[in-house]
Amino acid sequence: MKFIYRFGNGHADGSAQMRDELGGKGANLAEMTNIGFPVPPGFTISTRACRYYMRHKCLPTRLPAEVRQGLAFIEEIVGRKFGDPDNPLLVSVRSGARKSMPGMMDTVLNLGLNDVTVEGLARQTKNERFALDSYRRFIQMFADVVLSTGTAEFEECLGAERRRANVKTDSELPLKALTRMIVRYKALVKERTGSPFPQAPDEQLRMAIEAVLKSWNNQRAVEYRRIYNIPDAWGTAVNIQAMVFGNLGQSSATGVAFTRNPATGERRYYGEYLNNAQGEDIVAGIRTPKPLDRLETESPRVFRELITWFGRLERHYQDVQDVEFTIENGRLYFLQCRNGKRTPAAAVKIAYDMAREHLITQKQAVMRVNPEEISTLLHPEIAPDAKYEVVTKGLGASPGAAWGEMTLSSERVGQLFSAGHKTILVRHQTSAEDVGGMARAQGFLTAAGGMTSHAAVVARGMGKPCVVGCDALRVDYQAHKVLVGNREINEGDIITINGQTGEVICGKVELIEASFSDEFEALLSWADKFKKLDVRTNADNPKDAARAREFGAQGIGLCRTEHMFFGPDRITAMREMILAADATGRRKALAKLLPIQRNDFIGLFRAMDASPVTIRTLDPPLHEFLPKDDAGIHDVARRMGVPVKKVKQTADQLHEQNPMLGFRGCRLGIAYPEISEMQARAIFEAACQVKSEGVQVIPEVMIPLIGDVKEFVLQCEVVKRVAEQVFKKTGVRVNYHVGTMIEVPRAALTAGDIAQEADFFSFGTNDLTQMTFGFSRDDVGRFLPRYLEQKIIPNDPFKTIDTEGVGVLVRLAIRKARRAKPELEIGICGEHGGDPDSIRFCHQVGMDYVSCSPYRVPVARLAAAHAALLEEQQAERKALRATKQK
Ligand code: ADP
Ligand code: MG
Ligand code: MG
Repeated sequence: MKFIYRFGNGHADGSAQMRDELGGKGANLAEMTNIGFPVPPGFTISTRACRYYMRHKCLPTRLPAEVRQGLAFIEEIVGRKFGDPDNPLLVSVRSGARKSMPGMMDTVLNLGLNDVTVEGLARQTKNERFALDSYRRFIQMFADVVLSTGTAEFEECLGAERRRANVKTDSELPLKALTRMIVRYKALVKERTGSPFPQAPDEQLRMAIEAVLKSWNNQRAVEYRRIYNIPDAWGTAVNIQAMVFGNLGQSSATGVAFTRNPATGERRYYGEYLNNAQGEDIVAGIRTPKPLDRLETESPRVFRELITWFGRLERHYQDVQDVEFTIENGRLYFLQCRNGKRTPAAAVKIAYDMAREHLITQKQAVMRVNPEEISTLLHPEIAPDAKYEVVTKGLGASPGAAWGEMTLSSERVGQLFSAGHKTILVRHQTSAEDVGGMARAQGFLTAAGGMTSHAAVVARGMGKPCVVGCDALRVDYQAHKVLVGNREINEGDIITINGQTGEVICGKVELIEASFSDEFEALLSWADKFKKLDVRTNADNPKDAARAREFGAQGIGLCRTEHMFFGPDRITAMREMILAADATGRRKALAKLLPIQRNDFIGLFRAMDASPVTIRTLDPPLHEFLPKDDAGIHDVARRMGVPVKKVKQTADQLHEQNPMLGFRGCRLGIAYPEISEMQARAIFEAACQVKSEGVQVIPEVMIPLIGDVKEFVLQCEVVKRVAEQVFKKTGVRVNYHVGTMIEVPRAALTAGDIAQEADFFSFGTNDLTQMTFGFSRDDVGRFLPRYLEQKIIPNDPFKTIDTEGVGVLVRLAIRKARRAKPELEIGICGEHGGDPDSIRFCHQVGMDYVSCSPYRVPVARLAAAHAALLEEQQAERKALRATKQK
């Protein structure tokens, strides 16, 4: 068969390896069937059908016949017939793409029911209320998902019947109410769509299949794919599966569970269930589900069976599984399993624990944790000594703490985000429509829902704090406020949430940065064993340097000295230097800066004991140091005792049309060698002093913006001359390097010549990207979003290195440089040094190190290990192919 893959009776046509064709859900249903799990039989329509549908806007012609065969397969196993008036087979129609897209395309349950089969079902189960309840659910789901009527009027009708019968839950509704609802629901369908509710099961099935295929391109699915980078071309599979019933009474239930705790990673199952309920009831947050522990007392046999399967699942998949199960009259069925989404903190703990349990290797453990995600582990928590008043408490569904303006709609979150505000999204419950807003809020709070509700799942995926199931909260969208008891919180008021404890707090609470867990430290130390790249940090002061070292930095890859010229006493001396009439004047001003810079370097060298410290000489255009407004200009003039007119004149003279391509970088040092001299003196005096304190120092002086080797030679001479002077004067000698940034395309093109003179290269990929694209870094905001939208470039080249353009220059430069000087040390110090994809590139082109901001250091360590391990895996695969061919 071309489109369908069957599963049932311990055998499946597909397997977990076939995600591309079967989608994640279908592949795992096949896999679970193959390894003997109790899975209701069914079949999966391959994603190929969806791709066909997108192209031709109709179903493949041979599909109906194959579907018929698939149904026959199910009928044979369960002993019921689709559409049989006495013994009807009911099925669910479920979508499922290669990657899970929670809540994007809804499932239709109980398909196959109509006015005749509902009676057969009632007779057969001897449970009329169950049959009617299933039918009214089916009509509503079918109307909503397949006929796009929405659910509002159906819910209204349900609410009215509940009130009329004076009951709290649907399962208590009397038979009469159910019968009335079915009549009303069918009428609603007729009113809304102009056609009667389809009675023929075959037609119901065909329509449902088509609806799933069509839903791949509905707006929220498209939006979701955009946020999570899922290709539009994949398409979804459709799963058609025999129904099992969790709503047959008190010995039936439906539930969801994780084999380990998805929020903390604790090695203990975590789950919830609801008796006498079906499908979505549990995630919809209508009734509050019971924790899985309760099943142990209520139904110990089923509970033990479930736990045993959990163990098997973990051993088989070697990872935490997230499962859906249903208990029908005391019999357990599995309806889904997939790798459990988890918080970054849980991901680290689970990977570490599983390696310790010998379920996976250390290498696998390292690969399990996404480098980008762990940056959220360095997210703030509430300061331990902070004083605050808790207004109410819900379930802590995703850890971390955040504050922001209370905001009741995703739309408003978006607006406030654009205006630079922080928000906490507060909803009764969230749905797929909110995902866009959720991506822009600091955290989420919902009145309804459990640990597996939409908000909770999305929050953990995004690594944001989230509190759910906050019963005391009444959300009043119309009045733009929420009520907690008689306390009012208005939209726009600041609130704080703690996703660990579930606390909701009025006002802003002081937060602190999170620290490493022991598991995290251990995992990163494993990463260090596998990585080939060193990881350094960009730091300009001892405090950042010390923090970066705690995070595992192996040196400073970029110290920007210009940051040292700001600050009250410094900036005045700097301005004096800039405004001086001649070299003598400049030297006088520079003499004031020397001791200040020297002190800064002393601090840095001490903090980075025995690790290299790369210091860049002055880089930005001088006008950046001058006062911008009149008051500032007057102040400088007064302090320096020069006329205001003179200051203005100089400032005007320094004005440039294109400062980033102007008088900056080594061009300053070449025009005013005394600047480079002072900086070199500060560096070497500091180095000599710290060395004589017994600390090992490795200074590396880096000349910015070189485009030609002669520029470098001139600056290098200055540095070396000063170094010798200082060594002679102090009687201390230190080993040092002089190297250059490669950030002007011409430097990359002539890298062979430069390498002969330089001790090291550091790719300044921010400027290199700017100059290679001709995109002004400070102005890209105007057009870059459009470029990304129109897919002119695949991603922001200032975030992830453009391998096809900038990357080619980098490769070329490295090749030329290594040919001229094989031992040349090569690194990167642009923002890309902290971006996992770019780090992979740096590994591939054979750099020695990457350098990034202190908080990115753990990310970079992990990403560097990933790069090395991926390469190893590829090599292994290649070797395997080679032996196979022999
Ligand atoms: P989602 O991807 O949104 O989780 P699912 O297809 O998994 O959608 O189904 C939604 C709900 O319906 C789940 O709770 C699932 O367990 C339940 N369900 C799906 N198919 C069946 C079935 N054949 N019998 C009983 N319950 C089912
Ligand atoms: Mg599901
Ligand atoms: Mg630069």
